[in-house]
Amino acid sequence: MSRGFLTVYAGPMFAGKSAYLIEAAAHADNVLCLAPAFDVRSGQRLHSRTGVSRPARSIEEWPQDARDFSDIVIDESHFLVSPYYRGDVVADILSARDGGLNIVAGGLDTDYHQEAFPVMTRLMAAADRTVMLQARCHACGAPARWTAKKRETGHVLETGDADLYEARCDAHWTLPE
Ligand SMILES: [Zn+2]
Repeated sequence: MSRGFLTVYAGPMFAGKSAYLIEAAAHADNVLCLAPAFDVRSGQRLHSRTGVSRPARSIEEWPQDARDFSDIVIDESHFLVSPYYRGDVVADILSARDGGLNIVAGGLDTDYHQEAFPVMTRLMAAADRTVMLQARCHACGAPARWTAKKRETGHVLETGDADLYEARCDAHWTLPE
């Protein structure tokens, strides 16, 4: 069996990553969509902010039946880390690609401190294709590559939407007060 293809969609929150993942899943023959069990918002679906959604399986480890599928789509990949994921998801993804699966993974490249999520850095380095997405700055409307948190909660890994996060450009990004 020939090697598969790994595509990574990275960028800040509100950049439309989930919409790209849903689109990729729509074009696959036999697709399994995955989302971190950590992300309780998702309710076992991939949701885009344009209102489209698709069923997803919540995972805390690599699925045993992954090889039954031709394509795997993974949302919020930056959450697939210990203690919310058993094992090394990057190794699992690359092994699956070597086995012939096509994988599309989305996630935040950096956290709200502008620090890289290592899982995403490693996936982007290994990807056959990386697409860097930008959002619109909530302050000025310019292209935004950063996620900013509106108030400090003490958690780097924390789900939230516009209640907790905003996309910000270089000029308007700040740490929470
Ligand atoms: Zn701005």
